[in-house]
Amino acid sequence: MSWEVVIGLEIHTQLSTQSKIFSGASTAYGAQPNTQACLVDLGYPGVLPVVNEEVIRMAAAFGLAVNATVARRSVFARKNYFYPDLPKGYQISQYELPIVEHGELHIDTGEGGEKRIGITRAHLEEDAGKSIHEGLDGFSGIDLNRAGTPLLEIVSEPDLRSAKEAVAYMRKIHSIVRYLGISDGNMQEGSFRCDANVSVRPQGTDALGTRTEIKNLNSFRFVEKAINYEVERQIDVIEDGGEVLQETRLYDSDRDETRSMRSKEEANDYRYFPDPDLLPVLIDEAYIERVRASLPELPDAKAARFVAEYGIKADDAGILTASRPLADYFERTAAATSAAQQVVANWIIGELSGALNRDGLEIGDSRVTAAGLAELLDRVADGTISGKIAKDVFDAMWSGEGGADQIIEQRGLKQITDSSAIEAVVDEVIAAHPGQVAEYRAGKTKLIGFFVGQVMKATGGKANPAAVNELLRGKLSD
Ligand code: ADP
Ligand code: MG
Repeated sequence: MSWEVVIGLEIHTQLSTQSKIFSGASTAYGAQPNTQACLVDLGYPGVLPVVNEEVIRMAAAFGLAVNATVARRSVFARKNYFYPDLPKGYQISQYELPIVEHGELHIDTGEGGEKRIGITRAHLEEDAGKSIHEGLDGFSGIDLNRAGTPLLEIVSEPDLRSAKEAVAYMRKIHSIVRYLGISDGNMQEGSFRCDANVSVRPQGTDALGTRTEIKNLNSFRFVEKAINYEVERQIDVIEDGGEVLQETRLYDSDRDETRSMRSKEEANDYRYFPDPDLLPVLIDEAYIERVRASLPELPDAKAARFVAEYGIKADDAGILTASRPLADYFERTAAATSAAQQVVANWIIGELSGALNRDGLEIGDSRVTAAGLAELLDRVADGTISGKIAKDVFDAMWSGEGGADQIIEQRGLKQITDSSAIEAVVDEVIAAHPGQVAEYRAGKTKLIGFFVGQVMKATGGKANPAAVNELLRGKLSD
């Protein structure tokens, strides 16, 4: 039997605010344990939470960015459960009336295809603290600094049909929250993580299969691997005559497998009820319009503009607009060089991104600036160096040898355009290979590549390729 995979993601993104969601405590990451724990967030008797307006604006901005309804009235609710990192015994979240509902986005499915993924809802909630096990002998510690930091939980419809689609969706959300500046999306610090709900059903059927939920995936690679593992596991269980149990599972990246953690809670286990300490959040039209007016150009719109304005390939525009700093880098380079804009795109996606990946750097820390790259591409455009030599120059720039012109000068890389100098080398090459010359003249014209290669070798790659070709063809056909 063949199986269809069904996935829905719940993404937790930490909002970049100075203070916590219901108190004035700082949200700076990495402080000494418990120095930012605040009595309000720990629910001490007699304290009262007050919602930080900043998070309302951020949630509204997200809602508008994904074409959702921003609720004119939303309500905070208590989700009751006991866990050591949640000392007040309940998490303040939103339940029946979340701030954002009925959104959507589009993911690329490759080869120019696009697919709509529904966003069921996005709600505001507070994060819990963290248990610490490392370095403590025989007991666990609790760090409550994270308790009360604001989260936006974004829940998708079960519209995703493969691990690849799930990753594409998660990347899109990541890109949107970073464009909006509402989250730094830092996955190592846990600021952007997801739970993947996974089920399978026989191809061609409509009813949803029983799902499992894989908790706390904090890298795109783990999302893909965990889902693929889980899909195989569920299919094996069913094909062996068993049943998939609805449960929460954990992904172990060392072993690349998921393991059962606990059976799944139902909503009624949490005894949700509206938080009596917090007022409903009311938003009016004018507020929404102010937020809408403040939205930046978003990734899809920017990609469409790049195609229209610069004439670059749609796939490349998608890659370049995945992050705002990368898109800015492209625009700054394109504005500063006379090279064709598709060439600029190719260099950024190829050489530059390769070098960044190799050194684990973000575009903001690039060792070659946009102005530097523009200068290099100008030297290719004006014929000073070939595209091939330009790659060596780029490497030298990357390792700090200086600017393009400086390196070309110091290393004597200027292309030989003087045709008498090239002609001399062409004559030598022809004289040195009589056998190949005879074959060429007998009709094996493919050998032109061999001769060009020889001339390039003899000139250290510096001869102008067009001039070499022309001279060779002329002399060989004599
Ligand atoms: P809960 O509140 O228990 O986490 P929800 O009904 O809110 O459950 O769903 C959570 C996520 O699980 C959503 O992203 C939803 O699309 C997804 N989901 C629900 N049912 C299935 C299923 N059978 N297979 C895959 N994903 C599912
Ligand atoms: Mg869930």
